[in-house]
Amino acid sequence: MIALSVNGAAGRMGRQLLAAIGEHPDAQLAAAVDAPGQACIGLDTSVLSGGEPSGVSVADSASALVAHSDVIVDFTAPPVTLALLDALDDSTTGVVIGTTGFSADQLEQLRGHARRRPIVFAPNYSVGVTVALSLLQQAARAFGDDYDVEIIEAHHRHKVDAPSGTAIRMGEVVAEVLGRDLADCAVYGREGITGARQSKTIGFETVRAGDIIGEHTVLFAGAGERIEITHRATDRMTFARGAVRAALWLAAQPAGLYDMTHVLGLAP
Ligand code: NAD
Repeated sequence: MIALSVNGAAGRMGRQLLAAIGEHPDAQLAAAVDAPGQACIGLDTSVLSGGEPSGVSVADSASALVAHSDVIVDFTAPPVTLALLDALDDSTTGVVIGTTGFSADQLEQLRGHARRRPIVFAPNYSVGVTVALSLLQQAARAFGDDYDVEIIEAHHRHKVDAPSGTAIRMGEVVAEVLGRDLADCAVYGREGITGARQSKTIGFETVRAGDIIGEHTVLFAGAGERIEITHRATDRMTFARGAVRAALWLAAQPAGLYDMTHVLGLAP
């Protein structure tokens, strides 16, 4: 059995992660943590995930995660994730990070931590999105610079970062194949008299509404045709099961920074 812990246990994803760990025969819940002051602190995790009592109470300090975990799964917010990594000190505990919205500086700190411990960092833990990323590479290679690329994403009204980490990753994958730097060619939203579309740009459009779990479309449009590669998540358990799969895989890996292509054996 691999001992897994959840940071951000009371969140939309944290609850699903508790359920996904509970249903996996090779995983055992070691600890669950959320922010101080939350109503669930001190209560059995089943108040968050439903189902049978786990025997694990929700704690309010990262120190509860360090002692007994083989791997910690973190879906929180960038400062919380980085504080967790700092709190792990000299341990070699693995961390699966689902949090999105890191700045360039925060990403650099995260890479530094991966020199000391194994980390999986993916903006999307669904198998479908991982496959979509490899389809995008194939499409970009074939279409080259003759086709305009636009990325449209939609999420629920509570999401705090935009565009989504998955949309940015999709842009990076396409830009890399086309020999562009996303930082230079990305256009975020359009308004007013924008002028004609500049070639070799990658456009991003963001929708925030209701309870949409996560939808991404990458559109390649050329003269006389348009191709759309779309992924729609309909249940957060798809991310949670993917993250648990990543955590079980990570338990046997040396220090380093990994993503879902490594977990699924798709990395070149
Ligand atoms: P959420 O706001 O519902 O949950 C975040 C949780 O973190 C909350 O319960 C909050 O109380 C907790 N938290 C805050 N401070 C904390 C602290 N100091 N210690 C421990 N816990 C703390 O958000 P969510 O919808 O669950 O999403 C969380 C993150 O995961 C976001 O960045 C989101 O974009 C990302 N996400 C990633 C994937 C993926 O597949 N990679 C999928 C869905 C969401």
